[in-house]
Amino acid sequence: THFGFQTVAEEEKEGLVGGVFSSVASKYDIMNDSMSLGIHRLWKDDFVATMLPRLPPSVHRNPVRNGVAVPDGEAPAPAPFKCLDVAGGTGDIALRLLDRARDKFGSRDIEVEVVDLTENMLHEGRKRVAQTMYYNTPQITFTQGNAQDLPKHIEDNSIDLYTISFGIRNCTSLPAVLSEAFRVLKPGGRIGVLEFGKVSNPLLKEAYRQYSFQVLPVLGQVIAGDAASYQYLVESIERFPSQPDFAQLIRNAGFQTGAMREGKGGSWTDYTFGVATMWTGVKA
Ligand code: SAM
Repeated sequence: THFGFQTVAEEEKEGLVGGVFSSVASKYDIMNDSMSLGIHRLWKDDFVATMLPRLPPSVHRNPVRNGVAVPDGEAPAPAPFKCLDVAGGTGDIALRLLDRARDKFGSRDIEVEVVDLTENMLHEGRKRVAQTMYYNTPQITFTQGNAQDLPKHIEDNSIDLYTISFGIRNCTSLPAVLSEAFRVLKPGGRIGVLEFGKVSNPLLKEAYRQYSFQVLPVLGQVIAGDAASYQYLVESIERFPSQPDFAQLIRNAGFQTGAMREGKGGSWTDYTFGVATMWTGVKA
């Protein structure tokens, strides 16, 4: 049946994606740096700075008043700001969210759950977090799961901020991912999607094509010993919708799109001539 055919095709794609990311997981972070010449760091920093709202500074726990400990319950901790970083891989966005909350706002009342399809990527993420102050705290957790059908413990209307960075183009159904995001976000919650965009300037577009098809697979072979995975990466970027088409998909899922920060109109922001793009939306 048509339905049966779709199911097989989806399973195959997920198997393929799992294979790609399993095989490159341990080299993933160094590949990002070498392929983008480190520029992905700037894109991610701006993405996180745009998406994370100002948080109140954390109050001192176990406060003491006139030399006497204030009993538990008198100074209840505020509800943490809840983030879901889907396709969060090695925790790159999650750690940036936590660091920014702490460095910029003095807040540690923020929790990020990373959900990713690939166990090997989560494993790299856990190893990375073990080197940070967030290790063994509720501030960061890793869960294996699919963006299109989020793990059941993540409830409707429970999330303040949903992020997905360089992950959504690997998913079989973009509408399924976006409708799951809409479901789990609280009213007023925000979605941020960071993904490769389309370069519109014709000259730059040709240079970028050459770089993608000639240079990236070679870099993939040299650094990760895996040209095929990087060929897949390039093809998945080509297939992804244009900036306005993807903004329309976000609206179709029920989100309002519009200016997220002063001086920036529209539903998306291009980085590096559209090599990468940030789309934002609000669950009204
Ligand atoms: N977010 C990280 C970043 O920005 O560096 C990692 C991005 S990595 C290119 C893409 C990730 O998407 C991989 O870790 C892969 O396992 C994950 N992924 C692919 N399809 C997925 C799906 N359907 N659900 C959840 N994660 C998925």
